[in-house]
Amino acid sequence: MRDSYDVVIIGGAVIGSAVAYFLTANPDFDGSVLIVERDNTFSQASTSLSAASIRNQYSNPINVQISQFGSEFIRDFGDTMQVDGEKPDLNFHESGYLFVAATAEQEQILRENHAVQAGLGADVVLWDADQVTAAFPYINAHDLRVASYGQSGEGWFSNTGLMNGFRKKARAQGADYILDEVTEICRDGDHITGVKLASGQAVSCGIVVNATGPRAAKTAAMAGLEIPVEPRKRTLFVFDCANSPEGSARVNNGRLPFLIDSSGTFCRPEGKYFLTGTVPEDDPVVDWDDFEPRHEEFDRIWMNLAARSEAFEAIKLVNYWAGHYAFNTLDHNVIAGPHSEVRNFIFANGFSGHGLQQSPAVGRGIAEWIIYGGFRSLDLSPIGYDRIVRGEPFLEKSVI
Ligand SMILES: Cc1cc2nc3c(=O)[nH]c(=O)nc-3n(C[C@H](O)[C@H](O)[C@H](O)COP(=O)(O)OP(=O)(O)OC[C@H]3O[C@@H](n4cnc5c(N)ncnc54)[C@H](O)[C@@H]3O)c2cc1C
Repeated sequence: MRDSYDVVIIGGAVIGSAVAYFLTANPDFDGSVLIVERDNTFSQASTSLSAASIRNQYSNPINVQISQFGSEFIRDFGDTMQVDGEKPDLNFHESGYLFVAATAEQEQILRENHAVQAGLGADVVLWDADQVTAAFPYINAHDLRVASYGQSGEGWFSNTGLMNGFRKKARAQGADYILDEVTEICRDGDHITGVKLASGQAVSCGIVVNATGPRAAKTAAMAGLEIPVEPRKRTLFVFDCANSPEGSARVNNGRLPFLIDSSGTFCRPEGKYFLTGTVPEDDPVVDWDDFEPRHEEFDRIWMNLAARSEAFEAIKLVNYWAGHYAFNTLDHNVIAGPHSEVRNFIFANGFSGHGLQQSPAVGRGIAEWIIYGGFRSLDLSPIGYDRIVRGEPFLEKSVI
């Protein structure tokens, strides 16, 4: 490791590693990259604790396009990320999301979202209740006004596989990784000059990237900067199902979708089990080290699932854990790009519940901004830091 790098990335989970990959993959970049990661087990990283899924079903065209690139990238991941002939397999289950609407308001949102998605070529269809029953007979559709289903480009995959693939390839392309913690960021006026590490080492740099997930505000504060991102707890549960509906679908080779119920509870297959969670009724900021699961949420989840399907009446909890959303309190969406004044401090933070799937497009975008001083493939400036300064939310109606 050297004492000076062109780019220092703080945080080496999926976002930091995606930025490192896209930088080092770009023939127009010949600089040096250091990734500093404080915990190589990633046991508290949102990346490892996530539901590991991707959807095109957003309301904002930029989010749809971000995910469209994400699913293409995930499909091709093995070939793109191979190192020494070894191809990582993300085990992408392209099984689709099924959003169901039971109220007039939900119906209007799904219909408006669908128009945006269809306009961008996303493979999403709108169904009435009879069509839902015909495709997925286990779902109780009597109260449904409409549903939207992603026929391709959506599903779930290996979260740690995605992170490790980016890491391994970035390293093979010349990025340096170090196990250490950034404890200070050195700033001279409107310019970041370097970072100091818990080990006592100092590293100077031309650009620093904040990829520290739920700790993003703590990291920004080291440079005297602010970002409206805080840790919010989400608990996921895995259950076994006595009368599993697996294989009962009449579309997509019998595969069940990622169901987003009108109650806010979601559920998808996880191997022979099911993975589920819900929107918390109370959602306070939590301590960075508080990972105590909210076990009590399971009763509400069970009630919602059993109302949606008889198959979910007899279920048994087999595992559960809590992770942190890096929750953007302004608008629940990523902040990607430089600080408005301290231009060599780059944010890639605040993804809330959809950062894993956005890592390819945001990693690519941040790399482009560093290399060319602007976004090239997809204009991410509407999700930049300037909107935070203006207090203007980036509108996205489909947040989970
Ligand atoms: C329960 C749950 C379900 C989710 N489901 C989905 C989903 O289905 N689909 C989806 O797309 N997204 C989902 N997400 C969101 C997604 O997981 C995150 O947006 C994404 O993983 C963020 O990655 P990250 O690299 O920014 O953050 P993290 O994975 O949290 O990584 C940040 C890294 O920074 C390191 N770090 C922090 N401070 C320092 C420091 N000072 N020095 C050095 N290193 C530091 C940490 O150790 C950590 O490894 C979910 C999240 C949760 C919690």
